[in-house]
Amino acid sequence: MPDLHDVVDEIAEKMGQREDRGAVATYIPQLARVDPRHFGIAVATADGTLACAGDSEIPFSIQSISKVFTLTLALGVVGDSLWRRVGREPSGNAFNSIAQLELEKGVPRNPFINAGALAVTDVILSGHPPREALGEILRFIRFAAQDDSIFIDEAVARSEKATGFRNAALANFMKSFAVLQHPVDHVLGTYFHHCAIAMTCRQLALAGRFLAQSGRNPDTGFSLVSPERARRINALMLTCGHYDGSGEFAFRVGLPGKSGVGGGILAIAPGRASIAVWSPGLDAAGNSHLGRMALEILAHKMKWSIFGD
Ligand code: GLU
Repeated sequence: MPDLHDVVDEIAEKMGQREDRGAVATYIPQLARVDPRHFGIAVATADGTLACAGDSEIPFSIQSISKVFTLTLALGVVGDSLWRRVGREPSGNAFNSIAQLELEKGVPRNPFINAGALAVTDVILSGHPPREALGEILRFIRFAAQDDSIFIDEAVARSEKATGFRNAALANFMKSFAVLQHPVDHVLGTYFHHCAIAMTCRQLALAGRFLAQSGRNPDTGFSLVSPERARRINALMLTCGHYDGSGEFAFRVGLPGKSGVGGGILAIAPGRASIAVWSPGLDAAGNSHLGRMALEILAHKMKWSIFGD
């Protein structure tokens, strides 16, 4: 097996040289300002190795990757009854599609499309004012990463709120079907803020370790979720984590993964490693172009695909 540090260094060097970097998301103005030349990677393995390269210490907007952590929290709050409010099937549609929601009477297809994530955020708001719900999300991520310096980028949250008309439409639509129980502005405000959490690749790889290690956080020895729940979250990441690019990601990389429009991807090699990559340029499906490519090389070289060598 090749040395992980060598592989990670080699990938960062290769990605640094590529000209085809995809296009930075522009619909959230604050994200449009990010330099597309960044590339970072961090891998935290089950045996405690941490391999980082490139811009692995620069915080970026995790955006939809936060949906993995909010899903984990919501399952902790209401357990499997969450599945009465959100489905578990890939959508095959854009991340912010309204058409599907209308056909399915306001019940989102899965927790990772925007509508599903808004429903999940609504669950976390149960019994809390928005500020506390947000605090809980941030505390959970900090605990998983064992890093209290993780923060919310208020400028990104504001930028998203100012332009989040489609998310507002989705939330209002779901409210009309009584799929949301809290005021729409509370759900949206909490959602925009958790999407605006900023993390480095190193922090994100560390935060994802519980999913690679049957729910256990190796630093504390505590379980964040049961092995069964970790397995199921991974299954959803594999089938739904890249919107309508999920099939292509499974085909090429073969790992559960969740992308965000900030250009980050959290990928899990169950039993082996938690991996974070970041490159802000996106492909046509809204997933990090070089991030996906980097994961493809890593999974291939380390023989980590869940589908075999
Ligand atoms: N905050 C973004 C939105 O709601 C998240 C989308 C993403 O990262 O895919 O549009």
